[in-house]
Amino acid sequence: MISSPSPQPTPQRPRQRFSPEATYRSLRARLAIWLKPKDLGLIDLAFQFADRVHAGERRASGEPYIRHPLAVAELLATLRPDAQTIAAALLHDTLEGKPYQPKVLRTAFGSDITDLVEGATKLDRVTIKPQPWFAIPLLQRQFKQRLGYERHVESLRKMLLAMTRDIRVVLIKLADRIDNMRTLAVMRPDKRERIARDTLEIYAPIANRLGMGQWKGELQDLAFPYVYPIEAAALKRRVDRILRRQEGAIRRANERLADELADAGVRAEIHGRVKHLYSLWKKLARHDDNLDQIYDLIALRIIVPTEADCYHVLGLIHKLWKPLFGRIKDYISLPKPNGYQSLHTTVFGPGGHILEIQIRTRAMHEQAEQGVAAHWQYEGAREQPKPISRKGTPLSRNELRWLAEMRRWQERLSDLTDLKATLAMDFFSDRIFCFTPTGDVIDLPAGSTPIDFAYQIHTSLGNRCAGATVDGTIVSLATPLRNGQIVEVRTDNRQRPRRDWLTIVKTEKAKTAIRAQLGANP
Ligand code: MN
Repeated sequence: MISSPSPQPTPQRPRQRFSPEATYRSLRARLAIWLKPKDLGLIDLAFQFADRVHAGERRASGEPYIRHPLAVAELLATLRPDAQTIAAALLHDTLEGKPYQPKVLRTAFGSDITDLVEGATKLDRVTIKPQPWFAIPLLQRQFKQRLGYERHVESLRKMLLAMTRDIRVVLIKLADRIDNMRTLAVMRPDKRERIARDTLEIYAPIANRLGMGQWKGELQDLAFPYVYPIEAAALKRRVDRILRRQEGAIRRANERLADELADAGVRAEIHGRVKHLYSLWKKLARHDDNLDQIYDLIALRIIVPTEADCYHVLGLIHKLWKPLFGRIKDYISLPKPNGYQSLHTTVFGPGGHILEIQIRTRAMHEQAEQGVAAHWQYEGAREQPKPISRKGTPLSRNELRWLAEMRRWQERLSDLTDLKATLAMDFFSDRIFCFTPTGDVIDLPAGSTPIDFAYQIHTSLGNRCAGATVDGTIVSLATPLRNGQIVEVRTDNRQRPRRDWLTIVKTEKAKTAIRAQLGANP
């Protein structure tokens, strides 16, 4: 019933012969459950194309390259996406280092799939710059705050989303990350650490924002031992000890509960779940490292048919076992910002053993595990999770802005019939993110120019701005910038802001600074 979370990288697969055709056939059989024959034909073509492009190529592990895109497609298949997403997953690495391909791809598969593949390829540029103090865990928190690290990483996350015009690209990228993390052990140690850190700081938080609990947990637990090897191993040992000690009590609670629910005529599924190791580690840091204060290390999860059943079951549990004061949480009427819904309670279970119990419907469960992706499965006939309309915890200003985006997007999602239009919708249609030559990210409103970019960095840089280079090409100061461009500002100490700049710039910051300068030097 209970399985311990695995903090160690998945060991090498058993050395049976890998057959691309056999793997593809079993994937195809699963896709056939919800895709039409015409769609399957398209996916067949995508597989054959990828298989040809990657022929003879090998992964760092020595495996045939095609195993990787197949694994990415298999991961995505668990979300039941459309045919384009699966085809793009199979093709997602076919543009890597092959400059002639986009045209070929566009002719063969059309622009929808090609855009997805190009989007996924482009995102490989987003990475955290190595910092010397990474190596000193004790000092990290302090350094992170002082150096604006959190802001930097937050910008990277936003940029990653902004650079993609389509949420499906993010999903492909997350699946790509999971498979890369599963086979990370074969990489060079320094490369391993960088990839794992990007996973922990950029990709897992994005999965979390999208409400994808299962992928978030998997990404974090795969990356944790690479970024914090000593801490991960020590925590794993502690958790295993507790699991061994509590296994009997949990099993008894589970059996008792199953009897009780059967007597009451409630149809329910009960699972034990062990908290993901990395989120446990984060939580421990907030509780003086005291595992006794973590009541949800092991929880029982009850899945019932309806929302009314959830409250009914909560009542039955409280009759059976006394709840702990202040630990009953109703995330059904007050969902978490990412859409999470459940009832939580913590009780004195059999033998006074403290136990957390989570109660939810199947739809709530899928929302919790798959987040946004839960919305496009099973066309029609299913209970729609409520759009997010309330927040559970106080949020920072940045998070609130993000939340507003998510909410707007989710609300549209829940009442749109054209799923494709929804999924292809821009996340940040009104923001762009550009790089400085040293890799810092500058966040600007859409339509911003190199002058805005300069003022955003520093007023004095804006005031002396004489020209700009974008992605290595000299451009006029009036050129609108685009997502992901590298912008270099040329300065001249004799340069002064000009009146016509006021008509070019987009940001208030630039306008105010230019007016101040014009006023000072009319
Ligand atoms: Mn890949």
